[in-house]
Amino acid sequence: MPLHSSDALILRSYKLGEADRIVVFLTDDRGKRRGVAKGARRLKSRFSGGPEPLTRARVAYFERERLDLVRLRYIEPVCSPLARSNGEALAYVGYFAELIDEWAPEADPADALFRLGASVVESIVAGVPIGRLARYFEYWLLRLQGVYPATTTCSQCGFEITGEAQMAPAAGTFTCVGCKSPEQGVSLSSASLAFLQMAKTVAPAQLGSVELPEVADRQLAVAHRLLIKTHLDKELKSVRVVRELTGGI
Ligand SMILES: [Zn+2]
Repeated sequence: MPLHSSDALILRSYKLGEADRIVVFLTDDRGKRRGVAKGARRLKSRFSGGPEPLTRARVAYFERERLDLVRLRYIEPVCSPLARSNGEALAYVGYFAELIDEWAPEADPADALFRLGASVVESIVAGVPIGRLARYFEYWLLRLQGVYPATTTCSQCGFEITGEAQMAPAAGTFTCVGCKSPEQGVSLSSASLAFLQMAKTVAPAQLGSVELPEVADRQLAVAHRLLIKTHLDKELKSVRVVRELTGGI
């Protein structure tokens, strides 16, 4: 049984039997894995503190032939979003972890997704405003999956988009004001478009200095939620938690 060690993001964990847990984690080199953490539910476990969602950790595990489950040897937390973050930010932790979990391919390298997740964890800990971070994360996640419509040209007339636009998540279109349809889609103001433009070039740690007025934040939150729902064909469980705790999304 070969032993692998990787940088990883913990996505979630659940009970297994009396004393163990299954931990789902995204590695930087081998995609998403599920591993058994033996004895993780005992008081004096070597896994204590490791399995919190979105913890960045060093993990070591044994690969087992013909079995989907790996066996975890250790989880050493490196950076936890529980450190120095407020209640509102913590409400989003499960949401980010669930989004990564839904989109990360099983046992197939997803290093860009890992890097996005890791930089978001660091930004939560650094106190970057959580609304801007959430819109940024959604944008990049959807872009990495190839489901974010092009935002610079109108998908109907092909002209460059200036000022305002409309996104129709179900149809996957992004249109100029002249082509927008009154029935479908979410209107995006010039402030929303300006944020998307900035999101293309800045690192999440720099979001504190990128403007996102509340109305634009709402517009993008609605557009992204509908895009996610369209592509996953379901509503995420954590959306309700975020809504109840923060009023967001
Ligand atoms: Zn147009």
